[in-house]
Amino acid sequence: MEFDLIELIRARTAQPRGDVALGIGDDAALLNLPAGQQLVACTDTLVEGVHFPRGTAPQDLGWKSLAVNLSDLAAMGATPAWAMLALTLPHADQRFVEAFAEGFAQLARTHAVALVGGDTTRGPLSVTVSAFGFVPENRALLRSGARVNDAVFVTGTLGDAAAALRLMRDSGLGARDSINEQARAELQSRLNRPEPRIAAGLALRDVASACIDVSDGLLADLGHLCVASGAGALIEADALPFSSAMFALFNSEERRAFALGGGDDYELCFTASVDRADRLSADFARLGFGALRIGRIVAEPGVRVRDAHGNTVETSRRGWQHFAS
Ligand code: ADP
Ligand code: MG
Repeated sequence: MEFDLIELIRARTAQPRGDVALGIGDDAALLNLPAGQQLVACTDTLVEGVHFPRGTAPQDLGWKSLAVNLSDLAAMGATPAWAMLALTLPHADQRFVEAFAEGFAQLARTHAVALVGGDTTRGPLSVTVSAFGFVPENRALLRSGARVNDAVFVTGTLGDAAAALRLMRDSGLGARDSINEQARAELQSRLNRPEPRIAAGLALRDVASACIDVSDGLLADLGHLCVASGAGALIEADALPFSSAMFALFNSEERRAFALGGGDDYELCFTASVDRADRLSADFARLGFGALRIGRIVAEPGVRVRDAHGNTVETSRRGWQHFAS
C-alpha cells in the first residue's frame, strides 16, 4: 500500500529537470549542482491542529507545505530546484494523497521544482517538506545585514491569513455570518494558498541589505532580523499594507493586530540603504513586485511601532497575542 502511495505521488508530481540524475525510487536521490552556486536548503513541518486547522482541504495542504518552504528560499534570494516530502498519514488514504499531490504539483510546476524523494509513514497527520535551491556564491540574502537608518520594506499585504483564521473561529458564533463573501474568500485563499515571493527574492539580491520571510508575524520576524543585525526597528503603523478584503471586514485596530502579530503571511520583509530606498520605491514595478516602505532601522534594540501622532503603539504580548494563529 505504501508503495502505491509513493507511486501515486511520483506520477502526480512529475517535473522533468536535467539536474536530477536519480529521483524517487532508489535509497536516495542523486542531484547535480550547478558550478559556482551555493546550495540553499530548508525544511518546515506542518502538524494538523497546530499549523493548519483540522479539515483543511488536502489540495491546499499540498500547496501550502511546499509554499512555506519556497518562501524560505525566496527570503534567501534563491532559485528553487528540488523538494523532498515526508508524509505521515493516519490511514493509507489514496484520495487524500491524490488531492495532496495535486496541490503540491500545482505550485511545484509554477517554480519548476522537482520532487526527488521523501518518506511515507503512518501516524497523526503531519507533513514535512524540505526544499533546495541555488544562489550564486556569496550572494544570498541574510538576516544580518541591516544597518542603522536603512529603510524597512514589506512585500504584498499583511495579516490576511490571520484574519481568515479569525473568521473561521468566529463562524457559527453568529458574529460575522452575513459578511462580504468575496472578501472572506480572498482572505481564506491567502491562508490556504500563500504565494512564495520568489521573483521578489531574486530581484532583491542586488538591492536588500537584509531579508526575512514573515511567517510568525511582522513583529516576531522583523525582530529576528534586528537581532541578527545587532539593531532595532521603528515601524509606522499607518504605513502597514492591507488588502481591500481586510479593509472591508476589519477595523483599524484589528488590522494592526493581525499585521503585527498574526503570522502565515509569507511576505518578504527587507531592508535597504536610504539612497537605494528612494530609487527603489519607484523601481518595484520594473522589478516585478510590490513592496511598501514601513519604517527604518534604529540603533536601539527591539521593534517599536508608532502611530501618526508619534505615540508608541502598545505591542506587548497581551496586546496582540489573542490574534496570533
Ligand atoms: P527506504 O526504505 O529506502 O527509505 P522508501 O520506501 O521509504 O525507501 O522510499 C522509496 C523511494 O520513494 C525513495 O526514493 C524515497 O525517497 C521515495 N519516497 C518515499 N516516500 C515519498 C514521498 N512521500 N514523497 C516522495 N518520495 C517518496
Ligand atoms: Mg524511507
